[in-house]
Amino acid sequence: MEPHNINYFESFFSEREVFKIKKGSRNPYENIPQPIREDGAGATDLGPRDVLRDIENPDMLVPPKTDAGTIPNLKFSFSDTHMQLYHGGWSQEITARELPISTTLAGVNMRLTPGGVRELHWHKQAEWAYMILGKARVTAVDQKGRNFIADVSEGDLWYFPAGIPHSIQGLEGGCEFLLVFDDGNFSELSTFTITDWFAHTPKDVLSANFGVSEQAFAHIPTKQRYMFQAEVPGAIETDEVLSPYGTVPQSLTYRLLQQEPMITSGGSVRIVDSTNFPASVNIAAALVEIKPGGMRELHWHPNNDEWQYYLTGTGRMTVFAASGEARTFNYRAGDVGYVPFAMGHYIQNTGTESLWFLEIFQSKRFEDVSLNQWMALTPKKLVEAHLHVGPELMDSLRKEKAPVVKYNERTDNS
Ligand code: MN
Ligand code: MN
Repeated sequence: MEPHNINYFESFFSEREVFKIKKGSRNPYENIPQPIREDGAGATDLGPRDVLRDIENPDMLVPPKTDAGTIPNLKFSFSDTHMQLYHGGWSQEITARELPISTTLAGVNMRLTPGGVRELHWHKQAEWAYMILGKARVTAVDQKGRNFIADVSEGDLWYFPAGIPHSIQGLEGGCEFLLVFDDGNFSELSTFTITDWFAHTPKDVLSANFGVSEQAFAHIPTKQRYMFQAEVPGAIETDEVLSPYGTVPQSLTYRLLQQEPMITSGGSVRIVDSTNFPASVNIAAALVEIKPGGMRELHWHPNNDEWQYYLTGTGRMTVFAASGEARTFNYRAGDVGYVPFAMGHYIQNTGTESLWFLEIFQSKRFEDVSLNQWMALTPKKLVEAHLHVGPELMDSLRKEKAPVVKYNERTDNS
């Protein structure tokens, strides 16, 4: 077939139900989005193109007129990452290598089968985790010999401080979770693992260290295992190990979904940081639900960049970067979003189901500034003089610091 002489749409999409070409219709390709704005700006895209992606990203194909400038990419999908497959599960990661602007945090999406083990290891970064589905058993031992063994399930978090050794094992049914590290350049593939260290230590040294014969190490793995399949562990009591120094002073897990949410007209919010999860000294987060028709209000964060993970649904976010620059991105379940420090933003639910996502910060505290509240607590005449807005807006401003999600009918049709 001649690459420059094909009817791109006919040949590529005619067999796909979703792109059914309507013969005799004025626009037979009406299901195929085009980079054309309502006012007529733009023109059809003759291809080659990835139409599935264009359908997923309507506000990127046809950006709002208010978008301007050259804000760098603020989106990366776990579906576009390298997948590491193991017996026992899989992992994929989004770091500054994939999303260069994400310097403060890196994320890993990991699956463990029933009994699957993410092996005993440690790393230079703190690890924060959100259990998406299923159950796991986590273990850790701190620098004072105090240990921690706990089971986590859907909606639970864990936090392992930098340098503290730990493990994760899937329980009955297996699990999938999100890991977040307080350094964008972290890689889950370069952690300090117990098998790697054994493999790279002379056997006579191992023998001297543990006071047993070299023969005891005859069958150790010759390289890092990272993840492997093991037996499903029994009840947590059967895994109990009594430390002479006791258990860690602060729990390393937290039941975020059990927290009573702030309910708002447009959704719900649960905030977790070192004030209610004391172990989590360098990661703060909010679990946000935006109902269909709702939005996360215009706001910014005065402390650090925001790293987002979309759990369900679809949404769009416009980031305002000062200097006349703004850019809109579409997000869906499995995507990571990013907002550089202090940049203004909002998130709208663009779908028909709830949009659930995590806002995560490399910070001790969750902090945000509401545009609405800022205006409400500033002299009225001063605000009016800036914006030429009428009393209707000035009277509606909220003075209370609050729940961050509001209901608001969308006025466009995307
Ligand atoms: Mn780890
Ligand atoms: Mn935010």
